[in-house]
Amino acid sequence: MPPVLVVEDERDIREVLRRYLERAGLSVLTTGTGAEAIRLLTSAPPDLVVLDLGLPDVDGTDVLREIQAAGRPPVLVLTARSTIDDRIHGLQLGADDYVTKPFSPAEVVLRVQAVLHRSGGQPGPGGPVTYGQGRLRIDEPRHEASLDGRSLDLTPTEWDLLAAVAAAPERVFSRYELVNRIRGYEYAGYERTIDSHVKNLRHKLGASGADVLETVLGVGYRLRLRRDDPA
Ligand code: CA
Repeated sequence: MPPVLVVEDERDIREVLRRYLERAGLSVLTTGTGAEAIRLLTSAPPDLVVLDLGLPDVDGTDVLREIQAAGRPPVLVLTARSTIDDRIHGLQLGADDYVTKPFSPAEVVLRVQAVLHRSGGQPGPGGPVTYGQGRLRIDEPRHEASLDGRSLDLTPTEWDLLAAVAAAPERVFSRYELVNRIRGYEYAGYERTIDSHVKNLRHKLGASGADVLETVLGVGYRLRLRRDDPA
């Protein structure tokens, strides 16, 4: 299986991305420098490159050009630069998608899977997954979810929260775990706000929200629907 190449000089971010991508079943190579990334393009051709534009040794946009010269595996760009100009510049250079820092690692995994899906590379998680005999339906590549046939309009954080509990239905997640899964390396001071995101997500889930996303007193939260067997 050709690897996903993660090019990121910040070690914590690099390692959290590796963990999340591997957990999603992808094979991962990482490097902290643009020079090594360029070497790896030919020595271990990747299916997709996750590329931080702010690298210490080579300008990220130069790496992007090398990637194109190397037969153009798709690229997901990580950037702290949030100005429109940089985005347009990057798109002109051929990036397939963008994530602006700080980002949620779960979101990066979803984007990676979506780009791979579009490019016909490694399979994503497959089609939609259903829970509770079809009641809850989550289509990760399409970023769509519905409950009892009603489509859910979720914020990115609510989506990440739902994806986190759905990753292990019926297992109880502590607030700390949920924050860590949603925010990865960037969780300081965030733990208390989980409750309000849960409240909002439940509201969107409707009348059965509190049953579907259950509070386990003194412990945390869990998705109270069993994952259906694949059809
Ligand atoms: Ca950087």
